[in-house]
Amino acid sequence: MSNDLFFQQALPVIERLEKAGFEAYFVGGAVRDLFLNRPVHDVDIATSAVPSEVKQVFSHTVDVGIDHGTVLVLQNGTGFEVTTFRTESSYSDFRRPDRVEFVRSLYEDLKRRDFTMNAMAMNKAGEWIDPFHGRTDIQKRLIRTVGSAGERFSEDALRMMRAARFASQLCFSLDAETKLAMANHAPLLGHIAVERKLNEMDKLVGGPDRKRALSVLIETGLYRFLPGLDGQEKALAGLAKLPLEKLSAGQVWIAAAYLCSHDPASFLTGWRMPQKRIKHIVQSIRTLKQLQADGASDWLLFQSGIDAAVDASAAAAVLAGKEADPQEIIRRFKALPIKSRQDLAVTGKELLQWSSRPRGVWIKEALEQTEKAVIAGKLQNERMEIERWLRACNLL
Ligand code: ATP
Ligand code: MG
Repeated sequence: MSNDLFFQQALPVIERLEKAGFEAYFVGGAVRDLFLNRPVHDVDIATSAVPSEVKQVFSHTVDVGIDHGTVLVLQNGTGFEVTTFRTESSYSDFRRPDRVEFVRSLYEDLKRRDFTMNAMAMNKAGEWIDPFHGRTDIQKRLIRTVGSAGERFSEDALRMMRAARFASQLCFSLDAETKLAMANHAPLLGHIAVERKLNEMDKLVGGPDRKRALSVLIETGLYRFLPGLDGQEKALAGLAKLPLEKLSAGQVWIAAAYLCSHDPASFLTGWRMPQKRIKHIVQSIRTLKQLQADGASDWLLFQSGIDAAVDASAAAAVLAGKEADPQEIIRRFKALPIKSRQDLAVTGKELLQWSSRPRGVWIKEALEQTEKAVIAGKLQNERMEIERWLRACNLL
């Protein structure tokens, strides 16, 4: 959907609120992205109406974050987050405010936002309300906190991770005071939940300028308060030097876990990643090491599976300063006579029936020998052939 269309669709929400006597504006990331000419993915609306008033104005709403003043307004099948102007008072734990207070002033609402580029509003006529000069900073490609950087990071330390991830996503630099405050307040990141750090790190790693953002983490010392990275400055600097633009976000994680830890599984568990992601990265690193040691054999491709093989070979190429050739890996994988154990024409159950031996590890070993022979082209993947071959090899 085009940016214009996104805002057009949300316009009736603003108009209805205004008709009911309230103020309402477009705010946040969508307004920033519109000015940057980046694709907008969701439009946030801020209003002087308190949640109960918003719910009176619209017939279809969902309470998605009522304590924080957010109501989802449903308009022609699309949901728009409408949030009451608010301030956040006293942060005693460096993360969430003790209390949010609804206010009737847009200025107060913009003032509590993190960076100048995120503290702009636009009215229904497309006019900008930009009290902190976000547009000037965007033109200078600068990330700058609204007000004192030290205070803003003490209120909510996650903002420092947000600064680093925006550096990656937008290819922006950090304003000098903002960067200095990050260096001075880095330890406060220790108060932030790992899940929230992972969320920002995923965005950082997925952004086009992950190299710059990793340098920000190093230069400010933020990395020391991220899971498994304290003491890993050298490894991280090595990662930041690689041509990371050639990798997908997932492949950057593979290179990171490979360089920063001897035990990738526990490194990634420290980041509280879902098991499925951990499994894939760990398998990819195993494959990566085998690629480095012995090159890409058909047996390795078979054992890894296509996803890990493609990701591992991309990471291996970047680490070796070579060009990756994923198409070649895919072509070779497609040419394999079997792609997984399920494709084998026999099962462990059949082996047991054919043999006079009791159940045991020999079945697993015999299946693996069979797979190896089939992959090597020495044996056809055909039931009778396999039985004959297993008997000839004394594997039954
Ligand atoms: P994205 O494009 O990734 O969604 P965003 O800027 O919209 O970026 P959100 O997390 O969706 O980020 O937040 C919406 C807005 O809320 C931000 O633009 C900012 O104004 C404000 N905001 C979000 N997180 C914070 C925070 N930790 N401190 C202060 N303001 C914040
Ligand atoms: Mg957003």
